Amino acid sequence: MAKLAKLDDIVSLCKRRGFIFQSSEIYGGLASCYDYGPLGVELKNNVRKAWWKAVVQMRDDVVGLDCSILMHPLVWKASGHADKFADLICECKKCNTRTRVDHLKDKAEEGAAAQEHIEHVDIEKEVAAQHDLSNKVCPDCGKVGNFTEPMPFKLMFETQMGANVDDSMTLFLRPETAQGIFANFRNVLDTTRVKIPFGIAQIGKSFRNEVTTKAFIFRTREFEQAELEFFCEPGTDDEWFEHWKEQRFNWYLNLGIKKENLRFREHDADELAHYAKGCVDVEYKFPFGSGDWQELEGIANRTDYDLRQHQRGMRTLNAWFEAKGDLAKIELKAEAEEYLKGPLSYFDDVEKKRYIPYVIEPSAGIDRSTLAFLVDAYDEEEVRGEKRNLLRFHPALAPTKVAVFPLVRKDGMPEIARNIYNDLKEHFTTFYDEKGAVGRRYRRQDEAGTPFCITVDGQTLEDKTVTVRERDSMEQVRVATDKLPGHLREKLV
Ligand code: ATP
Repeated sequence: MAKLAKLDDIVSLCKRRGFIFQSSEIYGGLASCYDYGPLGVELKNNVRKAWWKAVVQMRDDVVGLDCSILMHPLVWKASGHADKFADLICECKKCNTRTRVDHLKDKAEEGAAAQEHIEHVDIEKEVAAQHDLSNKVCPDCGKVGNFTEPMPFKLMFETQMGANVDDSMTLFLRPETAQGIFANFRNVLDTTRVKIPFGIAQIGKSFRNEVTTKAFIFRTREFEQAELEFFCEPGTDDEWFEHWKEQRFNWYLNLGIKKENLRFREHDADELAHYAKGCVDVEYKFPFGSGDWQELEGIANRTDYDLRQHQRGMRTLNAWFEAKGDLAKIELKAEAEEYLKGPLSYFDDVEKKRYIPYVIEPSAGIDRSTLAFLVDAYDEEEVRGEKRNLLRFHPALAPTKVAVFPLVRKDGMPEIARNIYNDLKEHFTTFYDEKGAVGRRYRRQDEAGTPFCITVDGQTLEDKTVTVRERDSMEQVRVATDKLPGHLREKLV
């Protein structure tokens, strides 16, 4: 029975073994910002690679993209982020702590996990709604019902482009990667052979000035998203929605997440962003709060909303110049009759019809899923009276695939082990270690999640075989040195 990891165990292992560090730690740290260390960067790269493989490489109907983080400000006007992307917050009058209204708990629910299911973009609806905070508890000082009126809090980070104050322009750090995909829809259509149904995928950084950050890398202000916009003909969208729900759920399972820790949560109609026809979250049972289910990935049917909006947005360029870049002064005009024929429409040359495609969007967090993979892989067990910490990573995710050791530092064993290491590193991320007792070296690799350790020992000198020890079972088999790459490839792929 695997031990249920506590967040503290994970944070301390991550720091101790160089997975994840607090950003700017030598200056006392920067809240909610984290750096991935030598093992962490390999793990995170592997999570990205696994996503890209499943969503792009293995499919005939998805292509990739890598857009810039800074985009024309009108992108965010058209997408709705410039006007609506905010959280509703209130401030505790006693201790001045600001909290998202949807994160506040009732006095009666204290100890239970906070509700976190309100989408950021519902802000207008939220502002208009009545919020009774009389029973709500301040998460910081515990005072009940002592809050300011709820107010919207803008979530996009702003920055300035241009050398001079006079002609510099306010830009936004993107709060999602999706809009870069919509803005390039026409470019991709014109330069590739894609035909609907098809998808465009992207992995990249996003930024949100979150009111409250929490739980290590679960919610941070700078994070990485892996998003797919899958374009399909209206009327086929429900089918594609189901398809991607299944694909994405299985992706986590195939990478070793335990089934009992994963579930879907359908959004209620009143929770849906105004443009979405349907939305489901893939949730993971994270070990914080009270062992609560939390969103890992959102899968939404965004209809034709975004492409339509950008088609309207493109026509506001002159107005934007006239308003000297003041987005608040620009209005997106109602659709002209001919919107259907615009550049972001699609012409089906078999059926001879033109339409604005619908979009199914699976949107995952690379950092958040990395945390889920860490939590799910974490285990502690007792072996011959000694505690063993291990990360039971799926081989595709393990930061190091193989470690090579000489049993002792004599009799030519280090030289043989080094040769094996040099051969294997052509094929796998490999680590060489000759320091300390071999048992300690095994433990260190268990804790880093390395699936295989190879030891060169006395018998190697006689028959050119080595021991290959498997992380989870600790079983050891002897394998001929020249058969190692094949033996490992079979187990690691
Ligand atoms: P939440 O309700 O948790 O704020 P959201 O519903 O606004 O999230 P989406 O806009 O659907 O999130 O973003 C898609 C995915 O991006 C999320 O499922 C999550 O994995 C990741 N993500 C979003 N915000 C953050 C964040 N602040 N830190 C880390 N990952 C994030």
